[in-house]
Amino acid sequence: MVTLLLALSTALGLVVGSFSNVVIHRLPRRESVVFPGSRCPRCGTAIRWYHNVPLLSWIALRGRCASCRAPISPRYPLVEATCGGLFLACALRWEISWATPVAWVFCTMVLCLALIDLEHHLLHDVLTYPGIALGIAASFVAPWTRPVDSLAGAALGAAVPALLIGLYALRGVEAMGWGDVKFMAMAGAFLGWRGALLTLVGGSLIGILLGGGWLLFSRRGRATPLPFGTFLGMAALLALFFGEAAWGWYLGLFPKGGAP
Ligand SMILES: [Zn+2]
Repeated sequence: MVTLLLALSTALGLVVGSFSNVVIHRLPRRESVVFPGSRCPRCGTAIRWYHNVPLLSWIALRGRCASCRAPISPRYPLVEATCGGLFLACALRWEISWATPVAWVFCTMVLCLALIDLEHHLLHDVLTYPGIALGIAASFVAPWTRPVDSLAGAALGAAVPALLIGLYALRGVEAMGWGDVKFMAMAGAFLGWRGALLTLVGGSLIGILLGGGWLLFSRRGRATPLPFGTFLGMAALLALFFGEAAWGWYLGLFPKGGAP
């Protein structure tokens, strides 16, 4: 029974991942995510349902279009597998409770936003605004936060990057975008103020490691724009799964009564 539920969770994640691929590809291009159905970008042949099974079709067709054999990016099965893995991890962690669907929604929003930001350096309002509302609504049932905590998280999440944008603007530097402010408001609404703080700290560390490493490796200038939303997204998912453990560890560093 448990195995069946875990298998169904993974299958649902693969299907949601498949739809996320459509969102990630079409939203920045201002195309409808519903209509028309998927087509091969080279020969224009409509993709049949049995060639559109998440993960399996790509493997069966060996990463090529069924009619013209044009290569299909491995990005598609990778996004599907990631989403399936995240859905499975949520089901394993929170089992049959409200927390599981809440975590599924959050993972899907973060995955779409982070991957669009990676390619286009954009965090879409179409996703972040509803995300903030969903996060606040979810705080009524999510076990790791409460409505007041959710509002505090949204406020803190938005305030820190907004402050940084303001401070850097005084020096004429564009540190982050307003998309990051809205993304962080969403992450804070879902994760609460502790989660927002962990996401900001974690995102900065990941940015220094990955972003800084990439700038060094590719020998680009320091002014090269980095997808900060992607780093924040990775940190937000880590905060979702390991936030409580990280917070407990942090508080354990202080002697009794010395913790905030
Ligand atoms: Zn084709």
